[in-house]
Amino acid sequence: MLTAAADGPRAAQAAPAAKQWWIDEPIRMALFLYNQYQAPADTDAFVQNLVDLNANAVVLPTAGIAAYYPTKIPFHTIAPSVPAGRDLVGEIVRKCHARGIYVVGRFEWTVNQDKKVVEAHPDWLQRDVNGASPPWNDTYLMCVNGGYMQEHIFKIMNEVLSRYPLDGMFFNYGGGQRNVFGPCQCSNCKTLYNTKYGKAPPTQFDPQYLEFMTDCAATLAARIRAFAKSKNANINFMVGNDADSTNSETHGAPIAEAHAFWLYDASETVNRARAAKPDRMQFNNDSAFLDGRWRYAHRSSAEGEIRAYQNMANGAGPYLFVNGPADQFDQNGEKGARPAFKFHKDHEELYVRQENAARVLLLDEPGMSLAQILARFGGVATHADGNPPGNGGFGYRDSTELGSGMENTKTHLSGFFRLLTENHIPFVLSKDLSWIEKEPDRYDVVISSKGAPAALDGYLRQGGRVLVAGAVKPELELPPVVKLWKRKETLAAYWRLQDSKLLPSLADTKLMFFYSDYLELEPRGKSALTLVPPTKVNPMEMVGEGMQETSKPGLYVSEYGKGKLTYIPWDLGDLYYRASAVHHSTLFSDLMDDLLPSGRQIRTNAHPMLQITIQQQKREKRTLVHFVNLSGASQVAYHPAIPMSGIQVEMKGAFGSARMVSSSRELPIRRMPGYTSFTLPTLDTYDVVVLT
Ligand SMILES: [Zn+2]
Repeated sequence: MLTAAADGPRAAQAAPAAKQWWIDEPIRMALFLYNQYQAPADTDAFVQNLVDLNANAVVLPTAGIAAYYPTKIPFHTIAPSVPAGRDLVGEIVRKCHARGIYVVGRFEWTVNQDKKVVEAHPDWLQRDVNGASPPWNDTYLMCVNGGYMQEHIFKIMNEVLSRYPLDGMFFNYGGGQRNVFGPCQCSNCKTLYNTKYGKAPPTQFDPQYLEFMTDCAATLAARIRAFAKSKNANINFMVGNDADSTNSETHGAPIAEAHAFWLYDASETVNRARAAKPDRMQFNNDSAFLDGRWRYAHRSSAEGEIRAYQNMANGAGPYLFVNGPADQFDQNGEKGARPAFKFHKDHEELYVRQENAARVLLLDEPGMSLAQILARFGGVATHADGNPPGNGGFGYRDSTELGSGMENTKTHLSGFFRLLTENHIPFVLSKDLSWIEKEPDRYDVVISSKGAPAALDGYLRQGGRVLVAGAVKPELELPPVVKLWKRKETLAAYWRLQDSKLLPSLADTKLMFFYSDYLELEPRGKSALTLVPPTKVNPMEMVGEGMQETSKPGLYVSEYGKGKLTYIPWDLGDLYYRASAVHHSTLFSDLMDDLLPSGRQIRTNAHPMLQITIQQQKREKRTLVHFVNLSGASQVAYHPAIPMSGIQVEMKGAFGSARMVSSSRELPIRRMPGYTSFTLPTLDTYDVVVLT
């Protein structure tokens, strides 16, 4: 009968795509990263804890630096805490599957702790400039081009995948290598580098070497992917460019490096990732530890809640990452995860295939490659490659070893991220502009935080609306450059406000602060902002002496083909990130209204510390309005959110119903021209309103 059916007309139809659990099901992931001395001998309790947390997927320490099962492969050390005769991976996989929990095996290949490896396989090791391979933290650094990573790990993976029906694979360090010595000088690397570039590898990181390492890691990842899929076709492979899903981490404000506090880290990560790869899930974890050097001490539970809810509001699920034994040193790790895991489980149908429905694009910038990131984490990064953090963060630069996060090199972008969020203008964060050809009406406004690519010229000419900021000349048609003012030349300078029609919210403001690089262009008509050059700041009796008016423009607003261009030729984004001058937010808000003649997507009385996102589930024909209450954040502290009430929302579009998910209440709606309004009566930390 089966044969007959297969031969029948139904066989001619395309087979339904295999369900990809990581994106077609609502997933709540957990990683309990015990070290090799802390493995959970009580596997019942370990799995029960996952159940109690409402997790339905776990990233499980499996193999690599330490094996948590009785491996037969040489140079693969069994974790000393695995009890004799026991197979912890096997037990946990079986018990997890019995409780409906997916298991992603966690591997790391960057180091080997077997001391015999040095003599047995010297070609596996990375070499420093002297050809030596000194131990690093009592382990040996494996080279991505050596026999271990090129061949031996396949034996280990074959053993694992033959024994255990894993649902996914994750590699710490992404399949790259730890660059403790700087560029590896082993014979394999030397040969490969010479073949490709006709010279020896450099002794310091440079762009060509990073390209080399990126290619080496990508080639290996592709081989591993093919191998893993040959063993298990529906495995969630979380490594490399062709990953099925991607792992990322949200950290707080690190202690021992100059990384900045960033309230919107989880939102930024997930917004960007889901926009770039709609068919790939982003597993962005709440790295509950304070810093890579204090892995057993946790952020506040309120901070953990925020991170999980930001994931959910941007199209992903909650994901907790804690270090240490099953009996945690600090319960704030799990405590911060529980509320979001519970909410997600109770309403899990809302968290599948969400797509960002925002009508504004914030143009993203290229990110760092894996090799670039790893080069910074090798103990060789001795200088900051970004601006100082600007706000928050501990500010010390006391360690270059892998810690938590990196400095913010895109403060201009972060400033616009916050301006948009605080002004309740939902947006997509993406660097993709391919939609201009295919779907030119996809966005109402495109924002570029620093300069603008030439691709926006055509978009503008056919009717697009664009807001550009920064002292980097946009690749657009603009008046000639007169002068690039460096930031320090603008110390004590102002903008004179000249146009209360364009900027009605600033009608009672005459001078506005600014302090940044400024690209002076030839005036074209009268600008709404004109430069007031620096004046005397001391003594008080002479403050402002010599104040001059100029026609040097601080703003261009003009028709551009069929479209409209607004150009702020100074660094509004960076300035807002650092100083948050209220008039800069007001300026931005008025300029957005000018660019949106038919109105914003959301009109609301919501407090700026309430983050609102809009997602859609096309298959279910519904729109989700997410509310994340960030009012508990104060500098680097996260306190519990202050409850809010009476949040009125006018949402563009015609909807027939609004359901408040936490209370299952139908909210009264009111239809008005172009909009549907509802009021969220109360808000604790998070809620969703489902519009249909
Ligand atoms: Zn090497």
